[in-house]
Amino acid sequence: MTKPAKSHGRISIKASAKPRALLRETPDIAAAWKAKVITLFPDAFPGVLGQSLSGKALHDGVWSLETIDLRQFGMGRHRDVDDTPAGGGAGMVMRADVLGAAIQSTLTGKSADRSEQPIIYLSPRGAVFDQSMARDLSAKRGVTLICGRFEGVDQRVLDEFDVREVSMGDYVLSGGEIAAQALIDATVRLIPGVLGNSLSTAEESFSNGLLEYPQYTRPADWMGHKIPSVLLSGHHARVKAWRKKQSEALTKDRRPDLWRSFLDSGAKPKR
Ligand code: SAH
Repeated sequence: MTKPAKSHGRISIKASAKPRALLRETPDIAAAWKAKVITLFPDAFPGVLGQSLSGKALHDGVWSLETIDLRQFGMGRHRDVDDTPAGGGAGMVMRADVLGAAIQSTLTGKSADRSEQPIIYLSPRGAVFDQSMARDLSAKRGVTLICGRFEGVDQRVLDEFDVREVSMGDYVLSGGEIAAQALIDATVRLIPGVLGNSLSTAEESFSNGLLEYPQYTRPADWMGHKIPSVLLSGHHARVKAWRKKQSEALTKDRRPDLWRSFLDSGAKPKR
Protein backbone atom coordinates (compact mmCIF):
# COMPACT_ATOMS: atom_id res chain seq x y z
CA MET A 1 0.00 0.00 0.00
CA THR A 2 1.33 3.41 -0.90
CA LYS A 3 1.48 6.14 1.67
CA PRO A 4 -1.83 7.97 1.83
CA ALA A 5 -0.50 11.42 2.70
CA LYS A 6 1.75 13.54 0.56
CA SER A 7 3.46 16.74 1.54
CA HIS A 8 4.09 19.57 -0.90
CA GLY A 9 6.55 22.39 -0.62
CA ARG A 10 9.24 22.48 2.00
CA ILE A 11 9.13 19.35 4.15
CA SER A 12 12.56 19.11 5.69
CA ILE A 13 15.09 21.42 7.18
CA LYS A 14 18.73 20.51 6.68
CA ALA A 15 21.45 21.31 9.17
CA SER A 16 24.02 23.71 7.78
CA ALA A 17 27.57 24.63 8.70
CA LYS A 18 26.98 28.19 7.49
CA PRO A 19 26.87 30.85 10.19
CA ARG A 20 23.29 31.81 11.08
CA ALA A 21 23.59 35.40 9.93
CA LEU A 22 24.42 34.31 6.39
CA LEU A 23 21.33 32.14 6.11
CA ARG A 24 18.20 33.58 4.61
CA GLU A 25 15.50 34.05 7.23
CA THR A 26 13.29 30.96 7.07
CA PRO A 27 10.10 30.49 9.04
CA ASP A 28 9.62 27.77 11.65
CA ILE A 29 8.13 24.96 9.54
CA ALA A 30 6.41 23.33 12.50
CA ALA A 31 4.55 26.57 13.17
CA ALA A 32 3.74 27.20 9.50
CA TRP A 33 0.08 27.51 8.51
CA LYS A 34 -0.99 24.04 7.42
CA ALA A 35 -3.55 22.95 4.85
CA LYS A 36 -4.57 19.28 4.88
CA VAL A 37 -6.74 18.26 1.96
CA ILE A 38 -8.70 15.01 1.78
CA THR A 39 -9.35 14.28 -1.88
CA LEU A 40 -9.76 11.55 -4.48
CA PHE A 41 -7.52 13.63 -6.75
CA PRO A 42 -4.29 14.44 -4.88
CA ASP A 43 -2.57 15.08 -8.22
CA ALA A 44 -4.72 18.19 -8.61
CA PHE A 45 -2.60 19.80 -5.84
CA PRO A 46 -0.84 22.14 -5.40
CA GLY A 47 -2.24 23.12 -8.82
CA VAL A 48 -2.38 26.86 -9.23
CA LEU A 49 -1.36 27.28 -5.57
CA GLY A 50 2.14 26.23 -6.65
CA GLN A 51 2.44 29.35 -8.85
CA SER A 52 3.51 32.92 -8.15
CA LEU A 53 3.49 34.27 -4.59
CA SER A 54 1.52 31.43 -2.96
CA GLY A 55 3.85 28.96 -4.69
CA LYS A 56 6.95 30.76 -3.48
CA ALA A 57 5.59 30.92 0.06
CA LEU A 58 4.79 27.19 -0.12
CA HIS A 59 8.29 26.47 -1.32
CA ASP A 60 9.78 28.68 1.41
CA GLY A 61 7.74 26.96 4.11
CA VAL A 62 5.58 29.94 5.08
CA TRP A 63 2.68 27.53 4.71
CA SER A 64 2.47 23.81 4.04
CA LEU A 65 0.18 21.54 2.09
CA GLU A 66 -0.57 17.88 2.71
CA THR A 67 -2.91 15.86 0.53
CA ILE A 68 -4.62 12.78 1.93
CA ASP A 69 -5.59 10.34 -0.81
CA LEU A 70 -9.08 9.16 0.03
CA ARG A 71 -8.74 6.16 -2.29
CA GLN A 72 -6.19 4.64 0.09
CA PHE A 73 -8.93 4.33 2.70
CA GLY A 74 -11.34 2.65 0.25
CA MET A 75 -12.97 -0.73 0.82
CA GLY A 76 -12.04 -4.05 -0.74
CA ARG A 77 -10.03 -4.91 -3.77
CA HIS A 78 -11.31 -1.91 -5.70
CA ARG A 79 -10.90 0.47 -2.79
CA ASP A 80 -14.47 1.66 -3.11
CA VAL A 81 -15.18 5.01 -1.52
CA ASP A 82 -18.84 5.48 -2.47
CA ASP A 83 -22.14 3.66 -2.53
CA THR A 84 -25.75 4.21 -3.56
CA PRO A 85 -27.84 6.68 -1.53
CA ALA A 86 -29.99 5.27 1.24
CA GLY A 87 -33.61 5.86 0.29
CA GLY A 88 -32.77 5.66 -3.41
CA GLY A 89 -32.15 8.32 -6.02
CA ALA A 90 -29.50 9.22 -8.55
CA GLY A 91 -25.74 9.15 -8.09
CA MET A 92 -23.43 7.90 -5.37
CA VAL A 93 -22.56 9.07 -1.87
CA MET A 94 -19.15 9.02 -0.20
CA ARG A 95 -19.12 6.42 2.57
CA ALA A 96 -18.96 7.51 6.21
CA ASP A 97 -16.56 4.71 7.22
CA VAL A 98 -14.09 5.53 4.41
CA LEU A 99 -14.16 9.31 4.85
CA GLY A 100 -14.23 8.91 8.63
CA ALA A 101 -10.99 6.89 8.56
CA ALA A 102 -9.35 9.54 6.35
CA ILE A 103 -10.39 12.32 8.71
CA GLN A 104 -9.23 10.30 11.72
CA SER A 105 -5.80 9.97 10.11
CA THR A 106 -5.42 13.76 10.01
CA LEU A 107 -6.24 14.32 13.68
CA THR A 108 -3.31 15.07 15.88
CA GLY A 109 -3.03 16.45 19.36
CA LYS A 110 -5.80 17.04 21.82
CA SER A 111 -9.36 17.74 20.77
CA ALA A 112 -8.98 21.16 22.39
CA ASP A 113 -6.56 22.02 19.57
CA ARG A 114 -9.17 21.22 16.93
CA SER A 115 -10.54 24.73 16.79
CA GLU A 116 -7.06 25.79 15.67
CA GLN A 117 -7.30 23.38 12.70
CA PRO A 118 -11.02 23.37 11.83
CA ILE A 119 -12.40 20.72 9.50
CA ILE A 120 -14.31 22.14 6.56
CA TYR A 121 -16.36 20.32 3.94
CA LEU A 122 -16.55 22.29 0.70
CA SER A 123 -20.23 22.13 -0.10
CA PRO A 124 -22.86 24.16 -1.96
CA ARG A 125 -25.00 23.92 1.20
CA GLY A 126 -22.43 25.72 3.33
CA ALA A 127 -22.07 29.30 4.49
CA VAL A 128 -20.79 31.33 1.53
CA PHE A 129 -17.05 31.93 1.81
CA ASP A 130 -15.99 35.54 2.23
CA GLN A 131 -13.03 37.73 3.13
CA SER A 132 -13.75 37.64 6.86
CA MET A 133 -13.70 33.80 6.84
CA ALA A 134 -10.38 33.95 4.98
CA ARG A 135 -9.06 36.36 7.62
CA ASP A 136 -10.23 34.14 10.51
CA LEU A 137 -8.72 31.03 8.94
CA SER A 138 -5.41 32.75 8.22
CA ALA A 139 -5.07 33.50 11.94
CA LYS A 140 -5.42 29.81 12.87
CA ARG A 141 -2.82 27.04 12.71
CA GLY A 142 -4.38 25.77 9.52
CA VAL A 143 -7.40 24.05 8.04
CA THR A 144 -8.42 20.51 7.07
CA LEU A 145 -10.52 20.42 3.91
CA ILE A 146 -12.76 17.66 2.61
CA CYS A 147 -13.29 17.67 -1.14
CA GLY A 148 -16.54 15.96 -2.04
CA ARG A 149 -17.32 14.18 -5.29
CA PHE A 150 -20.45 12.46 -6.64
CA GLU A 151 -23.60 13.54 -4.73
CA GLY A 152 -21.58 14.48 -1.66
CA VAL A 153 -20.79 12.79 1.65
CA ASP A 154 -22.70 10.75 4.24
CA GLN A 155 -24.21 13.18 6.76
CA ARG A 156 -23.05 11.14 9.77
CA VAL A 157 -19.40 11.93 9.15
CA LEU A 158 -20.16 15.66 9.17
CA ASP A 159 -22.02 15.30 12.48
CA GLU A 160 -19.40 13.08 14.13
CA PHE A 161 -16.43 15.35 13.42
CA ASP A 162 -18.29 18.63 13.82
CA VAL A 163 -17.46 19.56 10.26
CA ARG A 164 -18.28 23.07 9.03
CA GLU A 165 -19.71 23.38 5.53
CA VAL A 166 -18.39 26.21 3.38
CA SER A 167 -19.61 27.08 -0.12
CA MET A 168 -17.84 28.95 -2.91
CA GLY A 169 -21.11 30.36 -4.20
CA ASP A 170 -24.55 29.48 -5.45
CA TYR A 171 -23.57 27.07 -8.20
CA VAL A 172 -22.62 23.40 -8.29
CA LEU A 173 -19.06 22.28 -9.04
CA SER A 174 -18.17 18.68 -9.94
CA GLY A 175 -15.95 18.36 -6.90
CA GLY A 176 -14.49 20.23 -3.96
CA GLU A 177 -10.93 20.53 -5.32
CA ILE A 178 -11.30 23.85 -7.11
CA ALA A 179 -13.25 25.22 -4.15
CA ALA A 180 -10.49 24.05 -1.77
CA GLN A 181 -7.85 25.79 -3.86
CA ALA A 182 -9.87 29.01 -3.91
CA LEU A 183 -10.29 28.88 -0.12
CA ILE A 184 -6.59 28.18 0.44
CA ASP A 185 -5.51 30.89 -2.00
CA ALA A 186 -7.67 33.60 -0.40
CA THR A 187 -6.46 32.56 3.06
CA VAL A 188 -2.77 32.04 2.44
CA ARG A 189 -2.30 35.46 0.80
CA LEU A 190 -3.31 37.03 4.13
CA ILE A 191 -0.52 35.29 6.04
CA PRO A 192 2.23 37.81 6.78
CA GLY A 193 5.15 37.34 4.39
CA VAL A 194 3.17 35.80 1.51
CA LEU A 195 2.40 38.97 -0.45
CA GLY A 196 5.24 41.30 -1.26
CA ASN A 197 3.42 44.32 0.09
CA SER A 198 1.04 43.84 3.00
CA LEU A 199 -0.51 47.24 2.27
CA SER A 200 -2.10 45.73 -0.82
CA THR A 201 -4.40 43.58 1.34
CA ALA A 202 -5.31 46.61 3.46
CA GLU A 203 -6.67 48.54 0.46
CA GLU A 204 -8.25 45.87 -1.72
CA SER A 205 -11.90 44.92 -2.22
CA PHE A 206 -13.81 43.87 0.94
CA SER A 207 -11.00 44.86 3.32
CA ASN A 208 -12.99 47.94 4.36
CA GLY A 209 -16.41 46.61 3.38
CA LEU A 210 -16.24 48.24 -0.08
CA LEU A 211 -15.20 47.20 -3.59
CA GLU A 212 -11.89 48.54 -4.84
CA TYR A 213 -11.63 51.76 -6.88
CA PRO A 214 -10.56 51.51 -10.57
CA GLN A 215 -6.83 51.07 -11.19
CA TYR A 216 -4.71 52.52 -14.03
CA THR A 217 -1.11 52.34 -15.14
CA ARG A 218 1.01 53.53 -18.05
CA PRO A 219 0.58 54.62 -20.80
CA ALA A 220 -1.20 57.82 -19.70
CA ASP A 221 -3.06 57.87 -23.00
CA TRP A 222 -4.09 54.53 -24.47
CA MET A 223 -6.03 54.62 -27.74
CA GLY A 224 -7.42 58.01 -26.74
CA HIS A 225 -8.48 56.82 -23.25
CA LYS A 226 -6.78 58.97 -20.65
CA ILE A 227 -6.00 58.18 -17.02
CA PRO A 228 -8.18 60.42 -14.78
CA SER A 229 -6.10 63.55 -14.29
CA VAL A 230 -6.38 63.56 -10.48
CA LEU A 231 -4.30 60.34 -10.39
CA LEU A 232 -1.45 62.15 -12.18
CA SER A 233 -1.72 65.28 -10.03
CA GLY A 234 0.67 64.06 -7.35
CA HIS A 235 -1.81 65.40 -4.79
CA HIS A 236 -2.15 62.51 -2.32
CA ALA A 237 -5.15 63.81 -0.39
CA ARG A 238 -7.11 64.40 -3.60
CA VAL A 239 -6.16 60.96 -4.96
CA LYS A 240 -7.32 59.37 -1.73
CA ALA A 241 -10.64 61.24 -1.78
CA TRP A 242 -11.22 60.34 -5.45
CA ARG A 243 -10.55 56.66 -4.78
CA LYS A 244 -12.85 56.57 -1.79
CA LYS A 245 -15.65 58.17 -3.79
CA GLN A 246 -15.15 55.70 -6.65
CA SER A 247 -15.14 52.78 -4.22
CA GLU A 248 -18.39 53.90 -2.71
CA ALA A 249 -20.09 54.58 -6.04
CA LEU A 250 -19.07 51.16 -7.39
CA THR A 251 -20.22 49.35 -4.27
CA LYS A 252 -23.55 51.19 -4.20
CA ASP A 253 -24.15 50.40 -7.86
CA ARG A 254 -22.95 46.79 -8.05
CA ARG A 255 -23.44 45.43 -4.56
CA PRO A 256 -26.36 47.03 -2.75
CA ASP A 257 -26.01 44.28 -0.09
CA LEU A 258 -22.44 45.36 0.76
CA TRP A 259 -23.42 49.02 0.59
CA ARG A 260 -26.21 48.47 3.14
CA SER A 261 -23.82 46.73 5.58
CA PHE A 262 -21.32 49.53 5.04
CA LEU A 263 -23.93 52.13 6.03
CA ASP A 264 -25.22 49.96 8.88
CA SER A 265 -21.70 49.71 10.29
CA GLY A 266 -21.88 53.45 10.94
CA ALA A 267 -19.33 54.35 8.26
CA LYS A 268 -19.76 57.81 6.79
CA PRO A 269 -19.91 57.89 2.99
CA LYS A 270 -17.88 60.55 1.19
CA ARG A 271 -20.02 63.44 -0.13
N1 SAH B 1 -25.48 16.86 -4.52
C1 SAH B 1 -24.81 17.99 -3.97
C2 SAH B 1 -23.75 18.53 -4.94
C3 SAH B 1 -22.59 17.63 -5.10
S1 SAH B 1 -21.38 18.31 -6.13
C4 SAH B 1 -25.83 19.09 -3.68
O1 SAH B 1 -26.82 19.18 -4.39
O2 SAH B 1 -25.61 19.87 -2.74
C5 SAH B 1 -19.96 17.37 -5.70
C6 SAH B 1 -19.00 18.01 -4.73
O3 SAH B 1 -18.51 19.21 -5.27
C7 SAH B 1 -19.57 18.37 -3.38
O4 SAH B 1 -19.53 17.29 -2.51
C8 SAH B 1 -18.67 19.50 -2.93
O5 SAH B 1 -17.53 19.04 -2.25
C9 SAH B 1 -18.23 20.14 -4.25
N2 SAH B 1 -18.95 21.39 -4.54
C10 SAH B 1 -19.91 21.55 -5.48
N3 SAH B 1 -20.37 22.81 -5.50
C11 SAH B 1 -19.69 23.49 -4.56
C12 SAH B 1 -19.72 24.84 -4.11
N4 SAH B 1 -20.56 25.74 -4.61
N5 SAH B 1 -18.87 25.18 -3.12
C13 SAH B 1 -18.03 24.28 -2.57
N6 SAH B 1 -17.96 22.98 -2.97
C14 SAH B 1 -18.78 22.58 -3.95
